[in-house]
Amino acid sequence: MIESVLITSGPTIEPIDPVRFLSNHSSGKTGYYIAEVAKKRGIQKIIYITGPSNYVPENVDVIKVKTALEMREQVLKYYKGIDLVIMAAAVSDYTSAKIYPEKIKKSKDSMTLNLIKNPDILYELGERKKKQILVGFAAETENIFENGQNKFKKKNLDLLVLNEISESNRAFDVNENQVYFLNGKGIKANKTMDKSEIAEILWDEIFSIRKK
Ligand code: C5P
Repeated sequence: MIESVLITSGPTIEPIDPVRFLSNHSSGKTGYYIAEVAKKRGIQKIIYITGPSNYVPENVDVIKVKTALEMREQVLKYYKGIDLVIMAAAVSDYTSAKIYPEKIKKSKDSMTLNLIKNPDILYELGERKKKQILVGFAAETENIFENGQNKFKKKNLDLLVLNEISESNRAFDVNENQVYFLNGKGIKANKTMDKSEIAEILWDEIFSIRKK
């Protein structure tokens, strides 16, 4: 029985100075629909941790965060008692080594911004996994299946939703997407469909994992 789910969604934003940040094009739409379908399918406890996004589901426990570190803190806080985690958030891989207290001036012709790696939240969840089902997302532009399989193993996942990012499939900030499901046994190619339909077939896939 899956009674509780923790869903992460949207981008994270990593501050550089008081007015600038690093981020990505994630809209938060996929996570939003995953939460909507979770409600429809009667999941009792839905914790939704989201970076800045216009898509926020109603009637679920919403926790708003900005940075990857804030998202990590909230995810780890709830992880222990949760049956299923779906990490749909596009977590920034890097953050600025320094947050400049004043707005950076455009005085020089070029400047270098030093970046440091953010913790990989999903990897940490994989390391600590007990009863939880872990679902990750990956967006790849090359060697997608090889990279996807490696992520599936490295992060100790039960399911990976793989996006191929290309000219014809932008995936980020659009309504439709084409995804593959990797479950450790094989690769399932799905048709291009609306993100709301992707959420439906993702839940079908999750329930089928649970039965195995
Ligand atoms: O390794 P990659 O960033 O492609 O992995 C994507 C998956 O890992 C997503 O499910 C994303 O939410 C998660 N992730 C994470 N922490 C990071 C980077 C990605 O949890 N710092």
